[in-house]
Amino acid sequence: MRVAVSVGVSTPPVATMRSSCTRRIMAVSYRFVSMHMAAAPLSRTLSTESVAARLTSAGLLRTKGLIGPNWIDARDGKTMPVHNPSTGEVIADVPFMGSKDTEDAISSAYDAFPAWSKLTATERSQLLRKWYDLLMANKEEIGQLITLEQGKPLKEAIGEVNYGASFIEYFAEEAKRVYGDIIPPTLNDRRILVLKQPVGVIAAITPWNFPLAMITRKVGPALACGCTAVIKPSELTPFTALAAVELALQAGIPPGVLNVVMGDAPAIGDALMASTRVRKITFTGSTAVGKKLMAGAAGTVKKVSLELGGNAPCIIFDDADLDVAVKGTLGSKFRNSGQTCVCANRILVQDGIYDKFAAAFSKAVQNLQVGDGFSEGATQGPLINDAAIQKVESFVQDAVSKGADVLLGGKRHSLGRTFYEPTVLGNISSDMIVSREEVFGPVAPLMRFKTEEEAISIANDTNAGSISSIPFGSRLDKELHLH
Ligand code: ADP
Repeated sequence: MRVAVSVGVSTPPVATMRSSCTRRIMAVSYRFVSMHMAAAPLSRTLSTESVAARLTSAGLLRTKGLIGPNWIDARDGKTMPVHNPSTGEVIADVPFMGSKDTEDAISSAYDAFPAWSKLTATERSQLLRKWYDLLMANKEEIGQLITLEQGKPLKEAIGEVNYGASFIEYFAEEAKRVYGDIIPPTLNDRRILVLKQPVGVIAAITPWNFPLAMITRKVGPALACGCTAVIKPSELTPFTALAAVELALQAGIPPGVLNVVMGDAPAIGDALMASTRVRKITFTGSTAVGKKLMAGAAGTVKKVSLELGGNAPCIIFDDADLDVAVKGTLGSKFRNSGQTCVCANRILVQDGIYDKFAAAFSKAVQNLQVGDGFSEGATQGPLINDAAIQKVESFVQDAVSKGADVLLGGKRHSLGRTFYEPTVLGNISSDMIVSREEVFGPVAPLMRFKTEEEAISIANDTNAGSISSIPFGSRLDKELHLH
């Protein structure tokens, strides 16, 4: 898995940012531990309709695309429904946009670029700071939107607003620090200066699992250094993106600096890739789509930042503090019902502590409360859609057919729809799909190992990369490959 922050300047320090970004994500994942441990009775407290009505009256349920100053329908009038994954109810319809709408959005961003990039860094910084303040002032509402369209528990959704807004705050500050370099020349009559300039229009394509944070992490740095953007949020979760840009307009960020299209993802992607006006693509999502975008970007030689799939190992050594290891693994694995790119997807446990850990971890997982994200005490929401739950089911079936033990869960939850029981599997081996591919669901596979060398070899033996490895116990003195 690759992690990259979209900076949108001509010489971004990619390697440094990649590792610092990873650390930041891991640090955040631990903050959710205490939430996941909460236990309270299930009860639906809010309906899709009542939440939608409240958000509409707050002016934050935007249901059209944004091009320049205008909230617009698709040119051909097509729409698509957006569902609450918890109930299956339609929240509202949004435009199903295609290539022509995307070209309009690119033109809008292109036209806005000269004025935006000519503002001083301090002026852009002040506008970003206002946007951050508005996101924080509307934290509850944006959190409700996230729960409504993505399903994660409200507390966790509000946590995402803090996290997502923090990127805008951070890059509002960094806007003033885009320093250049002076490089020693090889000839005496030369001076070599590196000035960092905004590249122009960037395209940001984002997934559904962090409907706010994936957008702010991309457009925060881009806007800070003077780029303008076309955002394409996931069709499954467009409302948070639309609310966020509504607040950006309210903050005084000029129309055209941020534009939002959604609908026919391949058509939108093709239009973005084909345009010579789009200078950079930043994407978080599946490896398959990432590869397509990378190939598409080659035609116009765009800069590319990709954050793709992973299969992160979590390694527990015999001398680990059991309580810390259980809590840490729980928070890392089950945040967002296992639907994050840095979830601990393979839990490697050393022989001497394996049985104790398996028992204590299963007990802790059993306490997780599955339910609608608006219900009191729920810590595990639904999976995003049918395809997601079918994938989880097929991974578990494959593991069981090859000899895995179901220590807990292992089936759909009695709540139905896309709710899946928090699951712990034991006796996992490397021929099982779950140890090779990213499950993206609430399934914790335990793998036994004897030596540190074996743990490193297992950790790196996966198709999907291994990032954010979390060791508990003895320090690893050898590096895991960060693909
Ligand atoms: P996931 O499986 O996590 O949904 P995807 O890669 O399918 O990951 O989706 C991530 C984002 O990529 C979403 O916004 C989706 O609409 C978009 N997307 C999917 N297919 C394409 C494509 N061919 N071109 C551009 N964007 C795409």
